[in-house]
Amino acid sequence: MRVTWSADDGTWHLSFRLDPEDDVTGRCADGQPLKLATNSFRVELPRAPRDIHPDLLALAAWTVVAPWTRRRVTFDRPISPELAGAIGDGWGIEAGPEGGRARSGDRLAISYSGGADSVAVAAMLPDASFVHFQRVSHPRVPNRWTHYRSDVLAALAARTGRELTVVRSDLEFTLAEPRPGYPEHHAVAAGALLLADELDLGGLAFGYELGSRWLGGDRYLLRYTPDNPMWAPHGAWGRAFAAAGLHIVLPVGGVSEAVTMRLALGSELREQVRWCLRGVNGPCGTCGKCLYKELIQAAVERRPLRTTITAGRPVARRWQQPPPYGGQEMIEYGCARVPGIEDTVFGAAAGYLRATESSTAWLDRCYRPAIAEIPEAWRKQVHDFMDGEIGFMTEDEARRVETWGTA
Ligand SMILES: [Zn+2]
Repeated sequence: MRVTWSADDGTWHLSFRLDPEDDVTGRCADGQPLKLATNSFRVELPRAPRDIHPDLLALAAWTVVAPWTRRRVTFDRPISPELAGAIGDGWGIEAGPEGGRARSGDRLAISYSGGADSVAVAAMLPDASFVHFQRVSHPRVPNRWTHYRSDVLAALAARTGRELTVVRSDLEFTLAEPRPGYPEHHAVAAGALLLADELDLGGLAFGYELGSRWLGGDRYLLRYTPDNPMWAPHGAWGRAFAAAGLHIVLPVGGVSEAVTMRLALGSELREQVRWCLRGVNGPCGTCGKCLYKELIQAAVERRPLRTTITAGRPVARRWQQPPPYGGQEMIEYGCARVPGIEDTVFGAAAGYLRATESSTAWLDRCYRPAIAEIPEAWRKQVHDFMDGEIGFMTEDEARRVETWGTA
């Protein structure tokens, strides 16, 4: 893989060329098969930055090209031995050329999506600035995803009143299959990486919660994952970001989506929370994400489910089948708490899971090892917030995390 950046003013263009051993099909770190659509993308920064450290440019590129690289990656300017070592150890990929020194920074920014999890992070870290990634169309790839309203999400981010940088990019269109999106989950940070020197960033906070960090949530493994390759500090991506002087920080990595939902709804940013990518004047109420989040919100608010989605609809089909489910811990939590759940689209799932309030009580507290993973500079602030607002799991509750999917 050969990677070349060029810049005009604030817009950075990346083009990449596959080596003979590379392939247009590959896998994301979570195991998802991916097919390449095109070999270029751009990242529009709000202004022309001063010099960008080569490690930041290289790592931003790596978040896009990693799935399709088989043996070596050649960047267009020398990278530090630390970053080359992290890519070598993490992926078995030879990275170079090597030269120069590693960078570091002091401040923390939040990779802010506007969903409940990142709003919860924002509530915990009131002084951290936001970097928001906004999808824009690619000049060479037709956009069949016009219902994806990234402009609405960016406008909501601007209304938070927080220090905000919006980075616009078409990098998601490098992916043909399964659909446009981040080739690696970390590609959302491409803009924050390019801005890290200018903003003096030493850490980037993400809204990945207990399920994503520890329970193998969503589309990959459904079991306890202390060595999660995406989000563990000692995993391949954690080490690569640390080598580039931008530590991955997961302030809500120890709490479930019930806790982040409660924090978001109790936050001063409540009016700007939006997890749905489709709605304009509010969440669409008809997509799978809306249905899943409605279950959690109804559980947190202890009220019946409000939805027009019926069991026969495609987005509800998975809940008519037996488990396992992606995000199953939250389905259990919701089914145990929503009044009248048996008469809803989750009725079948509730029958299979037989969860109770006590069997899901661990999801209301913080898993301590998640705090130990936070870089020291920000650990105390997160610890004290969890201690004061949430509380920590008992040993028995922590064991629920550590036996998830294996018991
Ligand atoms: Zn929706």
